[in-house]
Amino acid sequence: MKIANCLNNLPPYLFAQIDAKRNALREQGIDVISLGIGDPDMPTPEHIVNAMAEAIKRPENHQYPDYAGSLAYRQAVAAWMQKRFGVNVDASEETLALIGSKEGIAHIHMAFVNPGDYVLAPSIGYPVYSGGATLMHANTWFMPMNASNNWLADFSDVPQDVLSKSKIMFLGYPNNPTGAIASPKYFDAAISFCSEHDILLVHDNAYSEISYDGYVAPSILERPGAKDVAIEMFSLSKSYNMTGWRIGFAVGNATAIKALGTVKNNLDSGQFTAIQDAAIVALGGNQDCIAQMNAVYARRRDLVLDALAAIGISCEPPKATIYVWARVPDGYTSAEFAEKVLTQAHVVVTPGNGYGPDGEGYIRISLTTPDERLLEAVMRIKELL
Ligand SMILES: *Cc1c(COP(=O)(O)O)cnc(C)c1O
Repeated sequence: MKIANCLNNLPPYLFAQIDAKRNALREQGIDVISLGIGDPDMPTPEHIVNAMAEAIKRPENHQYPDYAGSLAYRQAVAAWMQKRFGVNVDASEETLALIGSKEGIAHIHMAFVNPGDYVLAPSIGYPVYSGGATLMHANTWFMPMNASNNWLADFSDVPQDVLSKSKIMFLGYPNNPTGAIASPKYFDAAISFCSEHDILLVHDNAYSEISYDGYVAPSILERPGAKDVAIEMFSLSKSYNMTGWRIGFAVGNATAIKALGTVKNNLDSGQFTAIQDAAIVALGGNQDCIAQMNAVYARRRDLVLDALAAIGISCEPPKATIYVWARVPDGYTSAEFAEKVLTQAHVVVTPGNGYGPDGEGYIRISLTTPDERLLEAVMRIKELL
């Protein structure tokens, strides 16, 4: 049998080599600490789990869900957008339930991209932006990102022939992996660029609730004219420690929401309604769990920053996300440094070039490891250097 060409065109899984080395060390009985994964270690808050326990008993939830999400879930989404950002979205026309936001990010390509078209993606970012294009036999133009542009993907130099075939621009702030945040001015520039060139703007806002030092992340839909060109993908995964539950939503431009909904109607049958019921409680219930979680991450962030400073690596304290993005010491590439830390300190950190070429020279450290283990990991790195 012959698999499709596009599968061969997907980049190799960039962390496969590290995973293999980690597994080999573990097989030798070595205690390896992973600071590599962006998956919250803390449990889903109890009131949400309890809501699920009730929802699962309701026989009406045992049948096929509504494709677009239950009306109650979409109304809860609209109410949350209003309460959290002051943004008005129509529950039936401008919201859509997702089986995790990754699902929406992957499938939006099918709704907008033809073979040979382009998507514009940040040169350091979530691999699904470009992977989804590859699966549609389309191309990716990577928008440069670096410390001097504050990790704000630069769309000022897209060549005309690429631009004329570009259908989607992906952005995501607060940013994984750099921890960068976007200014209203940057969002406004992206909105007017996409509007001028008739491109759908997809804003990936998976870290909207994870922030520190008083910073509160915005929705791009707060900006004037955003709804004419943009949809925004939200996820309950990081906000409520619900990565395993697979629930998120898209909001914004009605044409884009409808097109994504049409793709999904033909591919999946929606998310389990009981999970949507629990998500309604997450979005509408007491939000203290978020402040508590952010206090834990902020403490861990400072722990990591102190340890890095002690070995001569200084970095900007991120105002948001669960990651510290740090420059590697002079004389190392990202991969060499990650390999040294793994083989000699038995700690996994992610090499920045795994997120794209502009990530070379950096590593990403995830804050989703319990404090004692994180402390142990940073001690080991300190000793090594
Ligand atoms: C975690 C993450 C997502 C996806 O989250 P889901 O679990 O699929 O909702 C999307 N974008 C970025 C940048 C992420 O880090």
